[in-house]
Amino acid sequence: MHVVLIGPPGVGKGTQGVLLADAFGWERIVTGDLLRAERDAGTDLGWEAQQYMAKGELVHDELIIAIVKEKLAALTPQTNVVFDGFPRNRSQASTFSMMLQTVGLAIDQVVVLEADDDVLIKRISGRRSCPTCGALYNESLASPTREGVCDTDGAALFRRADDEPGTVRNRLEVYRRETEPLIAYYESSRAPVHHIAGGPSVEVVQTALRNAVGLNLS
Ligand code: AMP
Repeated sequence: MHVVLIGPPGVGKGTQGVLLADAFGWERIVTGDLLRAERDAGTDLGWEAQQYMAKGELVHDELIIAIVKEKLAALTPQTNVVFDGFPRNRSQASTFSMMLQTVGLAIDQVVVLEADDDVLIKRISGRRSCPTCGALYNESLASPTREGVCDTDGAALFRRADDEPGTVRNRLEVYRRETEPLIAYYESSRAPVHHIAGGPSVEVVQTALRNAVGLNLS
């Protein structure tokens, strides 16, 4: 199964994607993480991507499509995958559909996580990541046991540069302008589109997500 998660920055796509993938042995393709890994490794691609990421703008489509293609090629067609942060605009969405079609696959489910801007801004301002294992924390929703320290490996948590308030506002604008129209695009396609409120607790949202994609085993 191929599931696309759509939602504004801060709505919890990353957290929910990890929980789903870990519980059911799914793969995640997270374009933001892939770009950050390129940047941190100091590659040309990472340097180029950083020019856009730092401003909260979208990285150009060719680069994104190339990295997604490479990731997909490394998986068997039977692998269940959750896509987080991709596709991000109409052009990526149509290229993605064609890409899957050529190997006899399709997007099976689309999940839209929704929350108001004030909730998103509050969440993002409290968001922290672990530089070592990539774990995500949030002051209000999923706080670490010891403030500022990763529960898994004890590393000092940090705030992503593009989570600073000025950049966040631009990321929200870019989401509303470029990505939100994908909801209507997918609603007119064959894949079911599920709308889930992203405001409640991590557990409540995860249950709704599993129910939506037919994975709740209880
Ligand atoms: P994210 O972690 O998904 O919020 O992504 C962080 C940044 O990476 C975004 O603000 C964009 O600059 C870039 N990015 C991630 N995914 C994409 C994508 N599919 N298309 C274009 N840019 C992307």
